[in-house]
Amino acid sequence: MKPSEHDRWQAEVARRLGQGVDLEFSLAQFARAVDAAPTDPALQRFLAGLVEAAAAAPIDAWRCPMPDCARLLPAGVASTLCPFCQADYKYEGVAPAREQHYRLVGETSRDIRWVIVIHGMNSRAKWQEAFSWEIANRLSYSAPVLIYKYGWATIDVFARWLHRRLARRLGERMRIAIEQARQSRHPAQPDIIAHSFGTLLLSQVLEDPAFADLRFGRIITAASIVRPDFDWDRLVADGRVEAVLNHVGGQDAAVPYAQYAIPGAGPGGVVGYQGQAVLNVRADSFGHSSFFIPENLSLLISRQGLWHGFLTRPLAHFHPPGAFVAEPHWQPAPLLTRLCTRAMAYALFAVLAPFSWLRRRLDP
Ligand SMILES: [Zn+2]
Repeated sequence: MKPSEHDRWQAEVARRLGQGVDLEFSLAQFARAVDAAPTDPALQRFLAGLVEAAAAAPIDAWRCPMPDCARLLPAGVASTLCPFCQADYKYEGVAPAREQHYRLVGETSRDIRWVIVIHGMNSRAKWQEAFSWEIANRLSYSAPVLIYKYGWATIDVFARWLHRRLARRLGERMRIAIEQARQSRHPAQPDIIAHSFGTLLLSQVLEDPAFADLRFGRIITAASIVRPDFDWDRLVADGRVEAVLNHVGGQDAAVPYAQYAIPGAGPGGVVGYQGQAVLNVRADSFGHSSFFIPENLSLLISRQGLWHGFLTRPLAHFHPPGAFVAEPHWQPAPLLTRLCTRAMAYALFAVLAPFSWLRRRLDP
């Protein structure tokens, strides 16, 4: 056996595990995929080696012996009559042919369910229109997308009591969407993509006991202003959240200042999250809003893209470039400093609030 051949076979196994596809196969199918002969004893030894290492399980499969049919018989069915060609094996004097199959030990890929997008402060950014279009076009099946709108939040982010109101509205809206999904037989746990201020609102919904009934699939936070020590691990352990990808921009100039102006905020989108259950990934060239620039967005949700991969692939084998572990010793900036800067931000809020109110009346 040439070593390169063995490497190729191993790479094919790794590809299937990584993508969660074609985990079950016959010797002949695998041989065809790697361009080898099924009679190659080295290939047979390779597959036997997978079984020996408990990386694959052997499966006995049965095939219809009628030459015009030759289809694989469904597992667990008494093989006396072919469900496809209706041949009665006893009458024909034949028996189903036994065939060795293998099943790689791993998770299969997952469908993107439906997606709730929670944007940042600029609610009318162009990307919103592009996003639904892109996601509908890039995915081979249609996953409904709800883009949550909470109006044009600007100075509102400086006032904690306004966050609470916005977070409660978001929670209520998600509950309605989840109920509608259930009625139309979509899974009850949507995947979430949240950006910037939307990540903070999402974290507040997740912590609010009033919304403890809401469960989610995989969550992507981009340019997050959630605190690095937010307890994602507990949410994952409790089954409220399936998994979390924290996508960090290496050039993000806004996230580091969030904690000084926005109550409850932190630099999760720079430092990363400390939770063990979270996958932190840094895009070195990305700034605060790069994630939703059409060229970047279409790449992220394309088949080879990070977001598509995170939403569909088995995570045990998902190790994208840029992945990093957050510093375990993150501390918020001194309270006094934060109180001073937030007081200034709140004063600004108080001065500008009448104008904001007026603008909202004129252009909601
Ligand atoms: Zn048959």
